[in-house]
Amino acid sequence: FIHASAVLKLATAQLCVRPHHMLCQSASKQPYLSTSCSVYEHSADVVVIGGGSLGCQTLYHLCKLGMTNVVLLERDRLTAGTTWHTAGLLWQLRPSDTEVELLAHTRNVISSELEEETDLETGWIQNGGLFIASNKQRLDEYKRLMSLGKAYGIESYVLSPAETKDLYPLMNVKDLYGTLYVPKDGTMDPAGTCTTLSRAATARGATVIENCPVTGIQVKVDDLGVKRVKEVETAHGTIQTPCVVNCAGVWATKLGEMAGVNVPLIAMHHAYVVTERIEGIQNMPNVRDHDASVYLRLQGDALSVGGYEHNPIFWNDFSCCFVFSKHSMVCVFLLSLLVCFPPESFTADHKPLMGEAPEVRGFFLGCGFNSAGMMLGGGCGKELAHWINHGRPEKDMCGYDIRRFHHSLTNNNRWIRERSHESYAKNYSVVFPFDEPLASRNMRTDPFHQVLQEQGCVFQERHGWERPGWFNRGGPAPVLDYDYYGAYDVPKNTDYKYSEILGKEYTFDFPPHHDIRDECLSCRNAVAVFDMSYFGKFYLTGPDAKKAADWLFTADVNKAPGSTVYTCMLNKRGGVESDLTVSRLEPSPAHHPLTPESNGKRHTCPHTLSHTHTHTHTSTHTQMMRLCDLCVDSRELLQEVLNSDLSNDAFPFSTHKIVNAAGHKVRAMRLSFVGEMGWELHIPKESCLPVYHAVMAAGAKYGICNAGYRAIDSLSIEKGMDLRPDDTPLEAGLAFTCKMKTSIPFLGRQALEAQKAEGLRRRIVCFTVDEKVPMFGLEAIFRNGVPVGHLRRSEFRFAIDKTIGYGYIRNPDGGVVSPDFVRSREFTLERMGVTYKATAHLKSPFDPENKHVKGIYG
Ligand SMILES: Cc1cc2nc3c(=O)[nH]c(=O)nc-3n(C[C@H](O)[C@H](O)[C@H](O)COP(=O)(O)OP(=O)(O)OC[C@H]3O[C@@H](n4cnc5c(N)ncnc54)[C@H](O)[C@@H]3O)c2cc1C
Repeated sequence: FIHASAVLKLATAQLCVRPHHMLCQSASKQPYLSTSCSVYEHSADVVVIGGGSLGCQTLYHLCKLGMTNVVLLERDRLTAGTTWHTAGLLWQLRPSDTEVELLAHTRNVISSELEEETDLETGWIQNGGLFIASNKQRLDEYKRLMSLGKAYGIESYVLSPAETKDLYPLMNVKDLYGTLYVPKDGTMDPAGTCTTLSRAATARGATVIENCPVTGIQVKVDDLGVKRVKEVETAHGTIQTPCVVNCAGVWATKLGEMAGVNVPLIAMHHAYVVTERIEGIQNMPNVRDHDASVYLRLQGDALSVGGYEHNPIFWNDFSCCFVFSKHSMVCVFLLSLLVCFPPESFTADHKPLMGEAPEVRGFFLGCGFNSAGMMLGGGCGKELAHWINHGRPEKDMCGYDIRRFHHSLTNNNRWIRERSHESYAKNYSVVFPFDEPLASRNMRTDPFHQVLQEQGCVFQERHGWERPGWFNRGGPAPVLDYDYYGAYDVPKNTDYKYSEILGKEYTFDFPPHHDIRDECLSCRNAVAVFDMSYFGKFYLTGPDAKKAADWLFTADVNKAPGSTVYTCMLNKRGGVESDLTVSRLEPSPAHHPLTPESNGKRHTCPHTLSHTHTHTHTSTHTQMMRLCDLCVDSRELLQEVLNSDLSNDAFPFSTHKIVNAAGHKVRAMRLSFVGEMGWELHIPKESCLPVYHAVMAAGAKYGICNAGYRAIDSLSIEKGMDLRPDDTPLEAGLAFTCKMKTSIPFLGRQALEAQKAEGLRRRIVCFTVDEKVPMFGLEAIFRNGVPVGHLRRSEFRFAIDKTIGYGYIRNPDGGVVSPDFVRSREFTLERMGVTYKATAHLKSPFDPENKHVKGIYG
C-alpha cells in the first residue's frame, strides 16, 4: 500500500460511493421490451441469461455472427449485478498470449467498433496504466510483459523511479524499484458499455428483456440418451430454445442447478473504496501495485481503490437481493466504514468458466470472471458466440473451457472453496513458470503415488491429478492439507518442505533445483522410468468404429491389429484439437483385463463423441496405468522383465503387444515421447506396483532413475512441436500425419487443402540460443529487427547446454511464410527487454531423422 497510500494521503477522510448517475443510461431509457408483454410464448435460437458485461458482450457478438433470433433475459436491469460495481480497468498486458488477444478485442470493441456502429459513446477513457514494482523480480515480470507486448504491437515502457515521478507527480517513488507504463490502457464505463452493446444488438434484431428472472431450465433426453436444453422458464412465460448461455455472474451456480449442470465457482466480497476529490489527480494513469495487492482507478478527480486480501469474505447470500438499487443502500449504510463489499465470482484456477457444459448439450457457460470480466468481456463474448455458432471457439480457449476440470471435482465443495481462496489470495502474485497450487491437492492419485513420494517425488497438479514433476534428492516432500496460508485462524503448516521447495523455484532465472538435469541425461545416456498415468486413454468401439476413425483421425489408422499410429484430430477449421497415438487392438473377449471399462469426460472424449457416428462408443479407461521406459538401455533392461522378444524385427517401433511382465499381463507399446528407444507399459491398476518394482530391480545395474514431467518437457522439446486448436498440422510441421494423398475424407481436410493451396501464413520454427539464458515462452521473436511472433514454449536442453524454443512466426506483410522466409534472415529473441541472437531451424536439430526411436544409435 506504500505507493498507493502516498497518493491517498491527499484525499480527505470522507469517502463516497460511485455516483449513481452511472446507472441512468439503462435505468431511465428503456428501449427494450417491458415485462408486461407476453413475448415469452415464442422460441429463440439462443437465450442469454444475465445482463452484465458477459451477457451483453455475448449477445452483441452472436448478432455480429448473424444470429439474430436471440434473447437476453435480465432479472432486474442491465448492469444490476457485479458489473455495476466494476472498476472497469483494462490492462492490455497479461502473461498469456491468448489473454493478450482477448483483451485487445475488448479494447477494440469499446474504444472504436461500438461507437462507429451506434454513434453512442461507451465511456471509454484512455488514461494509461502504470504497474508498480517494489523489487527486481516484479520488474522482471513486467519486462517479460513488455517483450511479449512487442510481438502484438502494444506500446509499453519500463520507467525508472525518476521517470515515474515525472509522469505521476503525486506518487511517492522513494521505495519504488521501477514501473511499467502502458499509455493505451484505460477505463471502461460499465453502464455505457452494456447500454451501447445492447443497443447495437437490438438494432441487429436481438431482444433484451429486463425485469425477467429465469426460474427454470427444462432439459430433454434425445433418442441417443443425450441431455439437451429444451426451454427456459421465466416468471412471465416460457421460451423454447436449444441453447442457453449462463452469464449470471455470482448466481451462475443457481442457474446451473436448474439444468443439472455443475458450475464450480464461489462468490467472495471484493471490496473497494472511493475517495473524495484529489487535487492534481486528473488525467493520471490507473495504477496497479501488485506487491501491495492494490489498484487505483482514476474516477474523475477522485480515486477508486480496491485490492486482494489473504482472508477474503466468502459471500453466502445467494438470495435475489443483490441488485444495484438495494446494493447501493448497503454502501450508504456502510458509508461510515468507507468501503463497499460487492461480491464477485472466483474459480479454482483464476480462469473463467466457458464453453458447453459436459452434462447438457446446448448449455453454455460464460461466468466465473475473477475480477476481470469487464476487460475480458469483449474477447470472451466473441469466442463464446463463435463456440455457439460454429461448435468451437476461434482461439485456444482450453484454459477457460469448463471441460478442463474433471467431473469428480466440479461438484466438490472443498476443492472449489480451497482452490478459489488460493487463487484469490495469489491474484497479484508474480506468475512464475514453475508454480504449483497448495490448495486441495491429492484429489486424484495413481497406484505409484506413495512409492514415488517416498523416493522424493515433487508432484505437480494437473486437472486434479498428481503427476510426478521431478525427484528431490533431499527425501520426501509430501503435499499437506491446505492451511489457507494461516487465514481464518487455520493453523499454518510448519516445516512444510514441499512449500519451501516451491518457494526456491520462484525465479525467472534457472531454478536452483537442477536435479532434472540428471533425469534428462539419464534418459539420453542410460535409462529412466516415467509414470505417465496422467495421460488420457480412451477406447473407440462399435460396428462403426472404423468409419469413425477414418473421419476423426488425420492419419490412416486402418492398419493391422498390433499397429500404433501417431495422428491428429482436427476441428472444421483444420485446428488441432488433439494429437495422439491410435493403437488397433486385436478382438478380445469380454472382461479381458486390457479392454475398456469405465466412463469419464475430458476434452478429447467429448470432441470425439460430438463427431462420431451413432454406432460407436468411447470410454475413458481409468483402470490402467502407463509406465514408460524411455532410454537407450531400455531394451536390455526390459528384456529381463518381459517374456517377449524385444528385438527390432520382433517388436518394431510403432507396434504393441500383450506380454507378460513379472507374471502380470500388460500391454507393451514401442513408442517414445522423448525421442529415445523405449516402451510404454499399460498395466492394470492392481499390477502396477509389482511391475514397477520388477523394472526398478532389473534396472539397478543400468543405473535406472525415476524421472518426472519437468524432464519430459525438457526432453520432448528437443523433438519439437507445440500444438493448440488454433494451429493446423501444416503450420505445425505435422503434414506427415495427414492422409492427404488418399481420397479418405476426414474432419478438417477441406480447410487443410485450402491452406495448402494458398500457402502457409504462419509456421512453427525452432530456435536455439547459444548464450546460456533461461527462457520460458512468451519471448518476442524478431526477424531482421521486425517482430514476427513470440515463443510458445521454451526449455533448457541439458544434453547440449542450450536453450531451445518454439514459436509460430508470421510474415508482417501478411504474405506466405515459406522456408526461404525463415532461412533468409537473421533472428533474435527478446527476453525481458534484452535481445539474444538465435538460430532458426525448420526441423528439430536433435536426431532429425528419428533414428533413436528406431533403436539406431551411433
Ligand atoms: C469492486 C470490483 C472491481 C472490479 N474491477 C474490475 C476491473 O477493474 N476490470 C475488470 O475487468 N473487472 C473488474 N471487476 C470484475 C467485473 O466487474 C466482473 O467480472 C464482471 O462485471 C462480471 O460480469 P458478469 O456479466 O459475469 O456478471 P454480473 O454483472 O453479475 O451479471 C450477471 C447478471 O445476471 C443476472 N441474473 C442473475 N440471476 C438471474 C436470473 N435467474 N435470471 C435472469 N438474470 C439473472 C443478474 O441480475 C446480473 O445482472 C471488478 C469487480 C468488483 C466487484
